[in-house]
Amino acid sequence: MTDPFVRLERSAFRRRFRLSEELRRYVAEKGLAAIRRHAEDFVRDRLAPAHPYNDGRQTPMKGHPVFLAQHATATCCRGCLNRWWHVPVGVPLSPIQQRKVVNLIMAWILRQVFACRRCGACCRIPDGIVRVSEGEISRIAAFLGKDEEAFIAAETELAPDRKGLVLKSRPDGACAYLDGENRCRIHPVKPDKCRTFPYEWMNPDSGRVCPALRDICG
Ligand code: SF4
Repeated sequence: MTDPFVRLERSAFRRRFRLSEELRRYVAEKGLAAIRRHAEDFVRDRLAPAHPYNDGRQTPMKGHPVFLAQHATATCCRGCLNRWWHVPVGVPLSPIQQRKVVNLIMAWILRQVFACRRCGACCRIPDGIVRVSEGEISRIAAFLGKDEEAFIAAETELAPDRKGLVLKSRPDGACAYLDGENRCRIHPVKPDKCRTFPYEWMNPDSGRVCPALRDICG
C-alpha cells in the first residue's frame, strides 16, 4: 500500500499546508499528548457523526495545528475522507476509523515539529531490538556485499520471543551499524523499525531516550 504521505505530497493543495511558528510553539507548549486529545475530540465531534454539522466547512483553515493537519491529510470533512481514503459517507466513523484518522493527523503534526538531532541515542538503547524481515535481510546483506546465509549467521540472532530474527548489537547494546559519527552504515536499506521511528511508532520511554521528542512530548 502506498505511504499516505507519498500520496498527499503529490497534491499541490495538500502539500502547501505548514505549521506556522506560532502553531509549532503551541504544540511544544501543550505537548503531543494534549494535541492528540484535541484531535480525538475534533474527530469525534466534527467528523465521526453520520451527517456532521456543516460538513465540508467544519474545519477552519487556521487557528489550531489539528485543523491544518486535517486539511493537509484530507481528513477535514467526510467528502475528503471519502475521496482520499474511501471512507463511506452517511455512516458514523467507528472507533477504529477514528483512531486511524487521529493517527494520520498526529503523524503529520509530528513530521512538522520533530527535528532529529542525529545524536544516535535511539541506536544505543541497551535492551532495544531491531527485528528484520526476510526482505530486509536480503537487502542489508546485498548492500554490505555479503552472502545472505553468512550474514544471517554472523549478524543476526533469534528474537527474545523466538519469533523471527533481530540484528545483533554490540556488547554495550548499541547498534552494530552505528559509526563513530552517529551515522547509520546501512542507512539506504535500514529496517522499517529504524526508518519509521518516531513517525509511525514510539513507546512510553521514547521521550526519555530521544531529546528531540522530549521537547515536544509534554
Ligand atoms: S534519539 Fe532522537 S534525536 Fe537522537 S538520533 Fe534518535 S531520533 Fe534523532
